[in-house]
Amino acid sequence: MNSAVEETLVPSGSPTGIGHVASGAVDVSHGTILYLDDITVSFDGFKALNALTLTVNVGELRCVIGPNGAGKTTMMDVITGKTRPDEGTAFFGQSIDLTRLTEPQIAHAGIGRKFQKPTVFENHSVFENLELAMKSDKRVFASLRARRTAEQIERIVETMETIDLLPQADMAAGLLSHGQKQWLEIGMLLMQEPQLLLLDEPVAGMTDEETAKTAQLLKTLAGSRSIVVVEHDMEFISEIAAVVTVLHEGSVLAEGSMDEVQSDERVIEVYLGR
Ligand code: ADP
Ligand code: MG
Repeated sequence: MNSAVEETLVPSGSPTGIGHVASGAVDVSHGTILYLDDITVSFDGFKALNALTLTVNVGELRCVIGPNGAGKTTMMDVITGKTRPDEGTAFFGQSIDLTRLTEPQIAHAGIGRKFQKPTVFENHSVFENLELAMKSDKRVFASLRARRTAEQIERIVETMETIDLLPQADMAAGLLSHGQKQWLEIGMLLMQEPQLLLLDEPVAGMTDEETAKTAQLLKTLAGSRSIVVVEHDMEFISEIAAVVTVLHEGSVLAEGSMDEVQSDERVIEVYLGR
């Protein structure tokens, strides 16, 4: 990578090693994009995560399910640096130690997170929202601005096509349906070119039609990036996920195809109390 580019990624005076993570530099040579090992997070002695071990492969679309309080959101907080684990290791690719990076550094390294509630700029158009999402990209060179702008417009248009909001390009985001706002927010994440996308309940509150469309969208997006989805909608999960991870009391209770985990006695017990 061009050293001038890399330089802009590191605040001057920051120690080398930490924070010296170039976007797109994640080493996935072993086929693993995310590696959580033996992660424990305690809140006043209560273990929200208890020796959680989870591996996600490059290009995978993984679903994580589990009853309320299982630790799903805490897991995402650990991956994105919002919460520091008390024990365990968290690696992005082979060499990026997530427990040593700040939230912005982790975002910059290529992990994008979507919270449940859409947070689009309601008074701005769909196009502008995507443009703003990209503007925080620190790699833009002043000298290449003109050329980058043409490229950027192309990327915004491509993204609007991907999330099926091209006809709404000039519409204020506040006028979109709930489902369209969710897709716009996914589009805003895509503008940052993440290699791992974390989505917390992306189809909550969507119509059946919107849910089906979101399933198609996520299937399209996986492959060239990895996606971890926390969801409750079982029909949606069986539509998209090859592997489902069931969390319970802060650890992995079961993992496998939807059919496998649904027929697992421990899973049935947790969900149905039998
Ligand atoms: P899920 O997303 O699977 O519903 P969470 O990760 O939100 O579960 O929470 C796991 C457990 O940790 C819950 O019992 C929750 O009350 C607890 N918890 C989460 N965050 C905190 C916090 N900041 N302080 C204390 N307890 C917390
Ligand atoms: Mg949660």
